[in-house]
Amino acid sequence: MGISRRTTIWTLIALAIGVLFLWSATPAAPVRLDASGWDDLAARTVAGAYHIHTTRSDGHGDRTSVAAAAAQAGLKFIILTDHGDGTRPPDPPAYINGVLVLDGVEISTDSGHYVALDMPRAPYPLGGAGESVVEDVRRLGGFGIAAHPDSPKPTLRWTSAARPDGVEWLNLDSEWRDETRRQLLRAGAAYLMRRAPGLALILDRPTTLDARWPALLATGRAVALAAADAHGGVGRREEDPGRSLAGSVGIPSYEASFRALGNRVILDKPLAGDAVADARAVYAAIRKGSLFAAIDALAGPALLDFTVEAGYHREAMGATVPEDTDATLLVRAVAPAGSEISIVRNGRVLTTTRAPELRYVVTGGSGAFRVEILAPGGPGLPPVPWLVSNPIYFGEPLENAKRPVGTEAQVASTTPIPPFPWSIEKDPSSSATLRTGEHEASLEYKLGAGERNNQFVALATDLPAESVSAIDLSLAGDRPLRVSVQLRNPAGGRWGRSYYVDPAGSALHIPLASLVPIGAPPGTVADARSLLLVIDITNAQPGRSGVLRVRSSALLR
Ligand SMILES: [Zn+2]
Ligand SMILES: [Zn+2]
Repeated sequence: MGISRRTTIWTLIALAIGVLFLWSATPAAPVRLDASGWDDLAARTVAGAYHIHTTRSDGHGDRTSVAAAAAQAGLKFIILTDHGDGTRPPDPPAYINGVLVLDGVEISTDSGHYVALDMPRAPYPLGGAGESVVEDVRRLGGFGIAAHPDSPKPTLRWTSAARPDGVEWLNLDSEWRDETRRQLLRAGAAYLMRRAPGLALILDRPTTLDARWPALLATGRAVALAAADAHGGVGRREEDPGRSLAGSVGIPSYEASFRALGNRVILDKPLAGDAVADARAVYAAIRKGSLFAAIDALAGPALLDFTVEAGYHREAMGATVPEDTDATLLVRAVAPAGSEISIVRNGRVLTTTRAPELRYVVTGGSGAFRVEILAPGGPGLPPVPWLVSNPIYFGEPLENAKRPVGTEAQVASTTPIPPFPWSIEKDPSSSATLRTGEHEASLEYKLGAGERNNQFVALATDLPAESVSAIDLSLAGDRPLRVSVQLRNPAGGRWGRSYYVDPAGSALHIPLASLVPIGAPPGTVADARSLLLVIDITNAQPGRSGVLRVRSSALLR
């Protein structure tokens, strides 16, 4: 009796402590902002969520339920980014539950994840080196975004030196990974009391804001987005095959992710209700950088009017004005009381105000100027900004300064060595036939079908003992494909690089110094005695057949 009574008392005390803990953990509700008088801009400012997984990959909800959650959260568009290789044709834009649903893809590369938006179906699986995927997405007309560059998981972090079109300055899914257990427990309790504000407690100021993004902006345009990376739970994911507890109960929910933070595109006119035309407008705004991100769990709805006045011209966020222009930057925002508005250039704060408006005179401007707003009570140390704009640029960006090497033929300075008797190398399951004509060699290949098991077909030839500095190749395919050009030394060490080959023909100039080690090769590239043109399952499905033509080839000393 005594024991059961004592147990009851202890249970009650434990319950009371639990209730107190939850009560004390309750985060503040989002501040409601007054947007009266902003009718025109408010109508053209369209809220949406970017980076969402559905049951098509490792998310918990199908696209109809995800669209319903977005409608609940007051969003007008969502961009789905299920894991894939780009070969699934994207679903056409559609309005579902009143929400414009756009279909992108998150591609796994050797250098991390890369999201492609507004891209038609790829002719072969996209993957392999990050630079190859960046190049493919660009050639196909897509818009590429380096995903979760701050991820604490090295395999997820974007590490390629290739230049993306955009970058995720914030990724909600990465943020919980760097929290301590204690912080997570607190956020978990807070989530139970108020979902989106509880979720926002895990946010900090991401390092991308002060490192990677400014580095990209120093050499050209780069659009930044806030990524929900919503899965409708944290389980069932490619990233974490083992995790399932919180995910199985749907924490965090899609709706909570959508209410925590989002992007707002600023359009020329409000959405019209025509899915195709509206999709074009939303993608155009993203490509231009006419968008900002805001932590809605702190305050909303956010509105930002960021423009530049140069002479009689006035242009909005995303615009480029000539370098050396004398101009005035104007910032107006619907922001919580006590917010600090700053203008930032190259990772440096130029000016800050607590007034609702900011004017900043730029003399002989160059580079990218952007806006950050810090609201009171923002979570994190240092706190996450409440609002992050995209830049206004002064000067034509040096975009694509780092062109992929070897895509253009150059005139050889010395007499080339004409190759080569080609031969075939392949795995046992694949087949190939080589026809050598007077002017070209033609390889008919068929990769082994079935499971992925390192199927490959290669054209091989010997390299002369004398030193070679570069290789010129003129290749063509019966369809778009990728060929890995590799050198191999007698110890089996290989160095290589992947090249796109067009049906119309591609001229490749390949300096040996541009080839990168494959794995940890023994010996040195200087000892290489074989040249290989490899077609493998990095960028071709098992069972794939086709023709690769070598129209000309030369070794340059
Ligand atoms: Zn990812
Ligand atoms: Zn993802």
